[in-house]
Amino acid sequence: MVRPNTERSEDTIVALDFDPKNVNMRVVKGALEKLFETKHAKDNTDRFNLVLFRGNPAYLEDFTFKKDYLLSLVKEDVEDINTVPVESVIFMALTFLIEVYKKVGNKFFRIIIFTDQDMKPVTKEFIVQNLLDITKEMPVYVDIIRLNVKDGTKDDSDAKLRQLISWSKGGELIYVPKLKKLDEIIPELAEKKWNDQEDIFEEIKEIKIPEAYADFYENLSMDPAVIENPGETKCMACFQQTQDNNMLFKCPSCDNAIMHEVCWAHWSKTSNIGVRHIFRCPICFTMLKLPRPFVDEVLGPIEEEEAAPEVAQVTQEVAQNVQVADQNELLKEKDQKAEPKLIEQLLDSII
Ligand SMILES: [Zn+2]
Ligand SMILES: [Zn+2]
Repeated sequence: MVRPNTERSEDTIVALDFDPKNVNMRVVKGALEKLFETKHAKDNTDRFNLVLFRGNPAYLEDFTFKKDYLLSLVKEDVEDINTVPVESVIFMALTFLIEVYKKVGNKFFRIIIFTDQDMKPVTKEFIVQNLLDITKEMPVYVDIIRLNVKDGTKDDSDAKLRQLISWSKGGELIYVPKLKKLDEIIPELAEKKWNDQEDIFEEIKEIKIPEAYADFYENLSMDPAVIENPGETKCMACFQQTQDNNMLFKCPSCDNAIMHEVCWAHWSKTSNIGVRHIFRCPICFTMLKLPRPFVDEVLGPIEEEEAAPEVAQVTQEVAQNVQVADQNELLKEKDQKAEPKLIEQLLDSII
């Protein structure tokens, strides 16, 4: 059996949603260090972020590769902690992940939430049900850890936490009855996620995201911009200049990816996000879109199993011609330039 996702790079956001009166920060910090190190030993393209609750909830403006920097943000002597309900943590993390997803493709996203015995009850799970469902195919996995809580606690919060996890792409509810056992769960937590029932393989990804959610992703995408004075500029897919009715369009985010509109439509077949007409720039990976009817016109109706041979051939040529940048290299370069800053959320603004 093929496990297509075991190679997929994971960006992981870890929320420390517990009270340091109950949980020794030093122990958690040690476990986090082990988690980051184990994940990086498996795959050094994984990135991390933290949600901290000292005073107002705060997280880094972007994922980072810098484990030491992240650990330096986890203070061992914090007292001023305001934990929030798990559904609020998920809401905050998803808001952040959606921003990242606009510019970063081909990743698995994970939310890992550490809670304790005084976890606030889950009462507003409905606020994230729809959002978890819409973002499921990005995909997003959610793990929830209960520190100082016994295994097999079958109470109301157990059921609600399992429900929250089930609305995501998948994940585990993990009980750690004694903090000294925390270390033991780290190796499994560091394993890459995959969902053997639902992770669909590349050839049918064109229809992976439910039609009803296409608008949501469309709103996150940008339109390629027409180049008014192309001069000698050539299309990176067919190597031709602009022609009378065949203008060149550029990615508005990087200005560097340039193709005819028809060539963009062919490129969408190779790089779409699971909605046919929404795809990624080969240079900067920003989500772009074309009008759906236009893509249908170029590629043929999606209902037809195979495109006409002459269309399929052009699509294939475009896929071969377009030089795709190395996303991991780009992300590493960006991360080396500066340390991402902490963004504070006002507690009142959290749902
Ligand atoms: Zn072209
Ligand atoms: Zn671009």
